[in-house]
Formats: sequence, structure tokens, C-alpha cells
Amino acid sequence: SKWVYGFGDGAADGSAELRDLLGGKGANLAEMCNLGLPVPPGFTLTTEVCTAYYDNDRRYPEGLEAEVDAALARVESIVGMRFGDAESPLLVSVRSGARASMPGMMDTVLNLGLNDVTVEGLAKRSGDRRFAYDSYRRFIQMYSDVVLGVGHHHFEDLLEQHKETQGIVLDTDMTADDWVELVAAFKARVAEALGEPFPQDPRAQLWGAIGAVFGSWMNQRAVTYRRLHDIPAAWGTAVNVQAMVFGNMGDDSATGVAFTRDPSTGEKLFFGEFLINAQGEDVVAGIRTPQHLTKRSREAGGDDQPSMEEAMPAAFAELVAVYKRLEAHYRDMQDIEFTVQQGKLWMLQTRNGKRTAKAALRIAVDMVGEGLIDEADAVRRIDPASLDQLLHPTLDPTFERDVLTRGLPASPGAASGIVVFDSDEAERRAAAGDDVILVRIETSPEDIHGMHAARGILTSRGGMTSHAAVVARGMGRPCVSGAGSIRIDYSKQVMLILGEEIAAGDVITIDGSKGEVMRGRVPTVQPELSGDFGNLMGWADKFRRLKVRANAETPLDAETARKFGAEGIGLCRTEHMFFDPERIMAVRQMILAHDSAERKPALDKLLPVQRGDFVSLFEVMAGLPVTIRLLDPPLHEFLPREAEEIAEIAASLGVSEDAVRQRAAELAEFNPMLGHRGCRLGISFPDIYEMQARAIFEAAIEVGRKLGHTVEPEVMIPLIATKRELDILKGKIVAVADAVEREMGERPHFLVGTMIELPRAALRAGEIAETAEFFSFGTNDLTQTTYGISRDDAASFLNAYVEQGIFANDPFVSLDQDGVGELVAIGVERGRKTRPGLKVGICGEHGGDPASVAFCEKNGLDYVSCSPYRVPIARLAAAQAAL
Ligand code: PEP
Ligand code: MG
Repeated sequence: SKWVYGFGDGAADGSAELRDLLGGKGANLAEMCNLGLPVPPGFTLTTEVCTAYYDNDRRYPEGLEAEVDAALARVESIVGMRFGDAESPLLVSVRSGARASMPGMMDTVLNLGLNDVTVEGLAKRSGDRRFAYDSYRRFIQMYSDVVLGVGHHHFEDLLEQHKETQGIVLDTDMTADDWVELVAAFKARVAEALGEPFPQDPRAQLWGAIGAVFGSWMNQRAVTYRRLHDIPAAWGTAVNVQAMVFGNMGDDSATGVAFTRDPSTGEKLFFGEFLINAQGEDVVAGIRTPQHLTKRSREAGGDDQPSMEEAMPAAFAELVAVYKRLEAHYRDMQDIEFTVQQGKLWMLQTRNGKRTAKAALRIAVDMVGEGLIDEADAVRRIDPASLDQLLHPTLDPTFERDVLTRGLPASPGAASGIVVFDSDEAERRAAAGDDVILVRIETSPEDIHGMHAARGILTSRGGMTSHAAVVARGMGRPCVSGAGSIRIDYSKQVMLILGEEIAAGDVITIDGSKGEVMRGRVPTVQPELSGDFGNLMGWADKFRRLKVRANAETPLDAETARKFGAEGIGLCRTEHMFFDPERIMAVRQMILAHDSAERKPALDKLLPVQRGDFVSLFEVMAGLPVTIRLLDPPLHEFLPREAEEIAEIAASLGVSEDAVRQRAAELAEFNPMLGHRGCRLGISFPDIYEMQARAIFEAAIEVGRKLGHTVEPEVMIPLIATKRELDILKGKIVAVADAVEREMGERPHFLVGTMIELPRAALRAGEIAETAEFFSFGTNDLTQTTYGISRDDAASFLNAYVEQGIFANDPFVSLDQDGVGELVAIGVERGRKTRPGLKVGICGEHGGDPASVAFCEKNGLDYVSCSPYRVPIARLAAAQAAL
């Protein structure tokens, strides 16, 4: 096979289509070459080299070396320079580039090819000896760190020492001779650390760097990043070797990064940062504060350093033409990297830009308006899970904000929590249940676990494209970056904000949409959904077949669900209506009763309360279907435990505390999830279900009369294993309906159906459907009972299962389509064979998980039901599944 793909001079072996093989960076470099854009020539070692390397005990495949030689020769001929040449040396960069972007996770080496001889050639060619030796010392430091394992601090120490003895403050005051001296010191330090000299042979350097990049695929932070982002290790990374261009060749040189639209808001504005006389990584590293690209944004930011538009008008104009071309070509917002070398623009990278959920919506909707994409494209483009970011609360605007300081609005949303200065500590405190704000001078890839654990991130340094900003946006964490007035002292565990001291453990609030930092906790409000959201959801609704309902009990949740577009309630868990402290007493009485006579007073108290609940729910849902599940929970959820609770219930029942304790002990179970719960409660205490059915029917008739249309509730029996259970309970419910009809002079309309939550029910769905008028898959319990894994106790070993690849995902989050899914498919098929057109839904947590929604679409379910906030996610996922 072919291991190496070249690009340059207006042509390339590859293209954007070959992303899996060339990685994102390599594929897009090839594509830009094919488009005729100015790209320094180079070549890509494919991801298959990486895979072969790891499959073969870290040995390269045969033929690779010859292909690299040929590709390098071609680069030499394009640029007219030779690798290792004393007069006119070609220098290259060596970078990783996986299929999915993994910002900052893997290693990069720049200025490769420099040695004691070529540095003189570079000095001559550039006419700038200082530049040449500055590049050489950068190369020695980077290469030593990445390839030789001699860390940055060695070199930073030497630089500091040199500056101190020479009385130099700024790097820019270092002369050529200073750098020459430092290069000698750097090399001596490497030789001392390694016992052998810094490699002078450019070819040895090249293979060293290639090996380091492939090696970095398996470094700890890359492994962690892949785990967090579900990127398989088998994908491998590509390695891109590319002729160097220099943004640090004087004041007509620069380097920068840009987004073709604003990645925070989606506004159609060219947006980015650049640094004059700087090299590639300086911008992203957040070491110097970068300048604006456009005059407009410089003015808006109140900055007096000139923008690129003002400082380099010709290169800027070319950059504008290039970005427009790229956006039109990719039909998506691009994130680009460029360098200007002595006035000439070079493109180093383009990729679809990461963006906030809000920006993603706006860009997709705008692009439909601009005719770049169609509605189906727009619907396909939005990650349903990302909508979460839009649907969550922001800070209450009516609340006085005591703003301590401002930084950049790097990632939207708001969060409060205790200040933590260290990522490991952030992870620990979050695991202990604290809300954490991670505060760092700047973040690096080593901090991702802390950022993930934190509610929000605050940094004192770095721009909108800094590591903190990019990663927080990707994770959906609010972030304020570059809050320059904050002085952080890690050793004392405090930060000073304009004279005010805030210590680790103090509570602060950050607003990542405004860039504000506040002391204490600020209350939040529900989000207002934008017009873009409405448009996109409208398109999604046109494409989807699955209906989307919500799991909701309270009128408030039902209203939220309707606002988010729920088309009914798929699961009203009646026991959730009982947790109110005023009701719980009556419920406890009901449960603890020894017989119907003792139970009656409790049921009499609960009936009007339940009826009232259902009246409100039917009113809010006004004609939309409402599925009400009769009492289901394991009994232990309602048994009194604390001495106080026991005393209270004893008093209200007029019995001794001992009697209560004894009854609770009788009802206690070893395995409550598999015990006296679900329809088993209805079988043994039918009066409870009868009370609930009565409350439902009376409420339905009442609301029907009031609203002038029939209300047809769906009465749902949980945890059915056999048809016989359902026959008995349906009989009782129908009898209640008969009684209500006699009393109210009107027959209630209703359906009686069942949850399918046990493997036996799925297998016997054919006969159960003779009685059941609808099915709803309770995949929480169905997962629990299929795996035999307790829903409540899985956490202790789940991580080990995910880490060892036994589970790809937590099966309680994303449906196990093979096993549990097969039972669902069997249940649907057998149920519909008996009762064609049987209405079938799902109401486990999986109803709001995009992959599980796709499964439901494929298997012909009628609807999914999920928590109100996930309704939009399910609507969009359903549309994508149908497209
Ligand atoms: C289920 O089991 O999937 C379900 C929806 O019921 P619950 O979570 O209330 O047990
Ligand atoms: Mg259940």
C-alpha cells in the first residue's frame, strides 16, 4: 500500500475525502493545495502507518523510508532548497493530525533540519543571523522536550541565567550573539543530560520527530482525551511533514489563527488573532497577548495595537479572499491557521471550526438563508447533545452583580462554585459533590480532567483561541479566559483581584457569555430560546417521523416540556407526586396498613389530592396524550427509616413506635428492585390502583367538561411479567370506570396499556398485547433485568467495565442495542402481530439519548419519551435518524 501522500505546488495525492487515511490536517492541506491556495509543500504519513507501527511492536512498515525520501525530494524540488544543505537548507515542521481533531494533545516539532552548519545557511539566506540562531535555539528546546525527553525547564533556566548575567529583560533585547551563546549552552545541557550530543544529522532528526509524533498517540493525555471524546485508539494519527515558513522573520512577518465566523455567537464576522514577528505556536500558547485581525474588532475591543487589516493590508486582503473561498468550498465555518513570511501569505491549516451550540445553530440557519446548504443539511449538522448548552440556565439579570473583574467571554453559560487552583484537586472535590470553578493562570492539555470535572473555568491569561477557551467550548463548560487583572498565587492558594483576596474554597460565579467574574453565588434563570433555535427545530419536525413526549409529573415540568415541543406525556410517575412532605404521611399510612380497612383512611386522603394533580396535568396538556403510570416504586422508598419519621407516623396512626417499626421490618426486602413493586403492588393492594384509576377518570371527565373535548388518558401498568397480571388489573380498572360512569353519568375514555420492563414481558408480548392497548418500553428496568445489573449499584464497577471495553458506553445511558435492543425489537414485532397498529413508545432514560432514538426510529416505535430538557435533543435526533 501507499504510505506517504505528497502535496504542494497546486496539486496533491490526496484530498478532503481521504480524512480517515490522512487525518484532518493532512486531508485539508491536500484539499487546499488542490484548490490552488498558497500552502507550503509537504507530505503526510498516513494513519495506516501509525496502526501498522503499533501492530508491529513499534516498527515501521516496509517501504516507508523510500516513500519518505521520494516525498522529501519532491518538496526540495518545489521550494528549490535541500534538506541539510549548507547554503540553502530546507527546514520542516512535523505535526500530528488525527481523524478527529485533538487540540494540543499530541506533539509538534518546528524548524527541523537545523544544525551547526545549516543554521549558518539560514542566516545567510534570510540575511538575519539573530533570526537564524533564535530559530535554532527554539528547535533545540522543542526537539529535546518532545523527542529526547529533556524538559523545557532546563532551557528556560539557562535563558533566565543568561539574561540575568547580561542584564537583559526582554527576549526581544537578545542579540544574535546572545542566541549563539545560548545555543552552545543548550547543546551542552542536552549532552550532559543524555550522555551524547544533540543530533546533527537532519535525517536522524526527522525520524526522531516522526517517531515522537506516532509515540504521542499513546501518551496519557491523548489517551484521556480519546476516552472523553469516544475516539477509538485504532484510528491512529497521521504525521504531516511540511516545509517551514516563518512568521518571525521581522515586522513584515506574522502568524495567526482565525474563524470565518464568530465561534461564540455564530455572527457572520471574520474573527481571529495574530502576532507580528512570531512563530506558529506563540498564538495558541497564550504567551503574548495577540492582536486583532480586523479594524472593526480592534476598535470594538478598545485595543490600540494595530490590527492585521491596518498593519498588513495586502496580506490581509489575500487572507480575506482565501477564507471566503474556503467557506464556500467546505460550506461550513472554518478555523484556519496562517503565516505571513515577509509579506507573503501561507495557509497552514483549515478545518471545520469548533463552535458553541448557539453559534452552530446560527451558522446553520444563516447558511440555509445564504443558499450554501439546505434545511436537511442544517438539521444534520447540529449535534443534538450540544443543545444541552442552550437549554440551561443563565444568570438572573435582575440580580445585582458584584463584578470583581472581567476577562474574555470564552465559552457561554454561567456557573458558581468553590475556587480550586489545581486540576487534580478539582477532580477530587467534584467527585465529593462540590461545584468547582477551576482557576488557572492558563490551562494546558494536562488540565483536561480538571476542566471536565469543573462547572466552569477561569484563567488569567490567554485569548479566545487559547487552550482554555477552545477546550471549554468543546466541553460546553462556561469559561472566562484572560482575566488579566487577576494575580494567582498557586503556592499560597489565593488569587488577588484588584486588591480583593479570594482563597481556595471561596465561592465565585463566572459568566462565560459576558466574561464576568463575581464573588459568591448568583441565582440563575431559564434560557430564552432564539429564533434560530425555533427555525431549526421547525425543520427537524418536518423531517422526523417519531413523536416526542416527555416524562413529567408536575404542571411546571409539563409546561416546560410543552415549551420545548413535547407532543404529550409518555410517563407520569405517580409516586413522584407523593414526595411532598404533606402527602408522604398519607402514603406511608397507605403502605404500612395491614389491610384494606386500615388503608381506607389514607386512600381517602390521597384520592382528592391525586385527582387535583391529574386535573392540572390534563389542563396543561390540553388534548395531548397523557400516559399515567400507576404506583410502581420499590416499597423501601416509602418506608420510614429515621427515628423521627417512625415517631411521626406512629403518632398519626395512633399506634406505638414499636408497632410501626415491626411493620416496616415486615415489609423490608433484601432486593427491593426485584421485590414488592410495580404491578405486584396492584395485585396485592388493589385498592391503591383503584383509587388512582378513579382519580384519573374523575379528573378526565372534569377537565373534558371544562375544556369541551374528551380527555383520553392512557393508564399504564408497570413491571408486567405475565398476561394474567394485566388481565386482573385491567379488569379492576374497567370496573372503576363502570362505577365512575354510574356516578358521573358519563363514560370515561381511556386506554389501558403496559410497560415492557422485564425480559419475560418482551418475549410474551404476543399474548400480553391481547390485553394491552399500548406498550411503553421501560428500558431502565429492562436494562437492569436483562443484564442483571442493579440500576442503583452499577456505579461501583461501571468504570472498570467501560475502561476495559466490556461496555462501550454505560448501558443505562445509551441503549444496549444488541441485547436489550433485541428484546425491544422482539416485543414490538410480537405485540404488533397480535394487535396491528399497537402504539409503542419508550420511556426509559434512553428516550433522550440520540443513538437510542435512532434505534427507536429503525425499529418502528411510535414515540420516545424523555425528560423535558431533552425533548429538543430527541426531536433533533429523531429528525436525523429519519433523514
Ligand atoms: C423504566 O424502567 O425504564 C422506567 C421508565 O420506569 P422507572 O425508571 O420509573 O423504573
Ligand atoms: Mg421502571
